[in-house]
Amino acid sequence: MIPFNKPYLTGKETEYITDAVASGKISGNGKYTQKCQKFFEEKFGFIKCLLTTSCTDALEMAAILIDIKEGDEVIMPSYTFVSTANAFVLRGAKIVFADSMQNHPNMDTSKLESLITPKTKAIVPVHYAGVACEMDTIMDLAQKHNLYVVEDAAQAIDSYYTGKDGVKRALGSIGHLAAFSFHETKNIISGEGGMLAINDEQFIQRAEIIWEKGTNRSAFFRGEVDKYGWVDIGSSFLPSEVIAAFLWAQLENLEEIQKVRTQHWDNYFKQLRSWAEEQQIGLPQVPEYATNNGHMFYLICKNIEQRTALIDKLRKQDIHPVFHYISLHSSPFYAEKHDGRDLTETDRFTDTLVRLPLFYELNPETVTKQIIS
Ligand SMILES: *Cc1c(COP(=O)(O)O)cnc(C)c1O
Repeated sequence: MIPFNKPYLTGKETEYITDAVASGKISGNGKYTQKCQKFFEEKFGFIKCLLTTSCTDALEMAAILIDIKEGDEVIMPSYTFVSTANAFVLRGAKIVFADSMQNHPNMDTSKLESLITPKTKAIVPVHYAGVACEMDTIMDLAQKHNLYVVEDAAQAIDSYYTGKDGVKRALGSIGHLAAFSFHETKNIISGEGGMLAINDEQFIQRAEIIWEKGTNRSAFFRGEVDKYGWVDIGSSFLPSEVIAAFLWAQLENLEEIQKVRTQHWDNYFKQLRSWAEEQQIGLPQVPEYATNNGHMFYLICKNIEQRTALIDKLRKQDIHPVFHYISLHSSPFYAEKHDGRDLTETDRFTDTLVRLPLFYELNPETVTKQIIS
């Protein structure tokens, strides 16, 4: 049986957890939390990182930080996970859904400006499959219209964007804020887990306060204030040291994990290329400005019938591909609130995209053989 996902353990996770437990400090913001945050800041150039208990939490922190209020509009793709939208809806935002590109689920930036109104407060690009959105246009529009950009980089660890200026930047380092996920289905995992990356200094101090339940506890422990108390809204967004210790074992092996995942991706691509062409099935595309971080391998079928048949065929061999997302603009919760625009490309991906199993210990050939047979 080949599951869709199998969490990969590097072997050091329980050792570091034991160490964290033995240290006598297992609540948040201890040694392992600091190690992980520093790793990200140094490797990817984020100005400040804060671990969170999920990417969902990091997105909720971002919505608080940019002061989303009732009636503010936030632009994001419809083809995304529910948390991208929920984090802003929780603060009263109206979501304006952008359509996907024709050849990629990422938001189509060529039509973005027409969605901006005087009420627009932020753009939330989602780097689907870890492949960069076209960030130059997004950042230019944000600057022109005075908007914030929050990158949903849940799937985008160790992936890059090269802009017009020729500089290669890590995803999550371009927008004002970015959210990452370490859920067990992502490349680097801690069971549940996430991180807020801050690239605009104005947010650092307040982010720490929101992170620590609305108190200035972090500043207190650094000796910057002589007592700590309630200074703002906030919640319990920080993970325990047990989770950070697990995450540290993964981060130490980031390069190896990425090497293996991208190899699997390349093998899928090579082994399926001619079959896909014959069947008129689309393979994932990586634009020139983007890199591939081996997060996801998907197929784009001709229609829903072809996809259903393919999934059924593989399930019979005990191989478990999945499809997602059901477009948020037509979800039971949001359909009535959506402004009624047709999002044709988004709907097409909802009907035709299927994700193949992709995890460290996979041999892609066991899947591709069955697909082609
Ligand atoms: C996984 C994912 C999330 C949610 O991450 P959690 O850590 O489970 O909260 C949000 N957005 C996208 C695009 C994701 O893929």
